[in-house]
Amino acid sequence: MLYDNYQPPWEDDELRILRDAAGKFFEQEFAPKTDKWIAQGKIDRDAWLQAGEAGLLCAAIPEAYGGGGGDYRHETVIMEEHLKRGITGFGNQVHSAIVAPYLLHYGSEEQRRRWLPKLASGEMVGAIAMTEPNTGSDLQSVRTTALADGDDYLINGSKTYISNGQHADLVIVVAKTDPSLGAKGISLIIVETDNAGFQRGRNLKKLGQKAADTSEMFFSDCRVPKSNRLGEEGRGFVQLMQQLPQERLNIAQAAVVQTERAIEITIDYVRTRQAFGQRVLDFQNTRFKLAECKTEALIGRTFVDQCVLKLMDGVLDAATASMAKYWCTDKQCQIIDECLQLHGGAGYMDEYEISRMYTDARVQKIYGGTNEIMKELIGRSLG
Ligand SMILES: Cc1cc2nc3c(=O)[nH]c(=O)nc-3n(C[C@H](O)[C@H](O)[C@H](O)COP(=O)(O)OP(=O)(O)OC[C@H]3O[C@@H](n4cnc5c(N)ncnc54)[C@H](O)[C@@H]3O)c2cc1C
Repeated sequence: MLYDNYQPPWEDDELRILRDAAGKFFEQEFAPKTDKWIAQGKIDRDAWLQAGEAGLLCAAIPEAYGGGGGDYRHETVIMEEHLKRGITGFGNQVHSAIVAPYLLHYGSEEQRRRWLPKLASGEMVGAIAMTEPNTGSDLQSVRTTALADGDDYLINGSKTYISNGQHADLVIVVAKTDPSLGAKGISLIIVETDNAGFQRGRNLKKLGQKAADTSEMFFSDCRVPKSNRLGEEGRGFVQLMQQLPQERLNIAQAAVVQTERAIEITIDYVRTRQAFGQRVLDFQNTRFKLAECKTEALIGRTFVDQCVLKLMDGVLDAATASMAKYWCTDKQCQIIDECLQLHGGAGYMDEYEISRMYTDARVQKIYGGTNEIMKELIGRSLG
């Protein structure tokens, strides 16, 4: 642990047991495969089944639907244990902490029973498709349509940058069921990827997060029954806005864990590296830089843990979640840059984890709503 005597204020004995079990699983089963997954551009499909078997998917979904019967704290513990081992590419945050909650909160009983157990077992992998080639931040302007045709919708359009896109069996598609109504015409519709009108695009090559599959998706007269819609027609934008604070907190938490790991591996490096006859750790600059990094990491950690408490109390507002997302991801990129610098040339080499952490971190300021959009949202709370 980077800090002495720090305990998350939301953690109890049951969560510590889960932390221990999840940590062992990731250490033994996923950590040794990370390099292979990076080389192939995606994790192995059976990793999802393994995680499901170990009870690490859909931890916050009730047991009645095959989930772990926990809450957001359980998801947090699993995410922290996975990320603190430097494992990359396992898109469980999207699958368990975003897709499954949409089904739980807005799905009918029939929809929950049909899909949640398969998501919890890893038999199905989930994705959410909001972004389009011409529309990201301005979500109201999506062009994908889902127009009524009897008891069905015909979906037409394309999506891009979709996480879990290559493995996904189930996609929550953001589409306009009434293009004349703007945001009020948006609905969320479940598409199973064996649908004849669905086509998976390329696994996109990226700057970082190379083990994460990120894809284009194409919908061409993709026919789905209206019963695949989540909630009422036209409620999609409101549903998205309701879920985004949790999604943004999740990104902020990931940023904090990865920042902490970067500092830890850097301390290990500068302790053993010598220059001018002394340890790199013993240069005053190194100690001051790491002192600043550690201080800011603990500020981030304290902030996100307070946000978890607020979320659990149902009072995490959009502005506070946006503050957490923008500040923690900005700090992640700055601190990892400092840590890389302290590695010298080694920091630029692929074989050193800090190099990968540097490129993996960059997208954190972009997805889940860019940090500029976060500041817009915070700005709106100023009155
Ligand atoms: C690796 C990766 C994974 C992703 N996973 C998913 C996923 O699973 N599902 C999904 O739907 N999407 C996903 N995305 C997409 C991501 O959410 C979008 O890229 C992001 O929301 C930004 O949208 P955009 O790319 O269209 O940029 P744009 O919206 O075109 O923004 C371009 C620039 O303009 C700025 N800008 C835009 N509007 C404003 C404004 N009002 N004020 C000030 N500045 C503004 C932005 O901040 C940005 O700097 C992923 C992206 C990446 C890179």
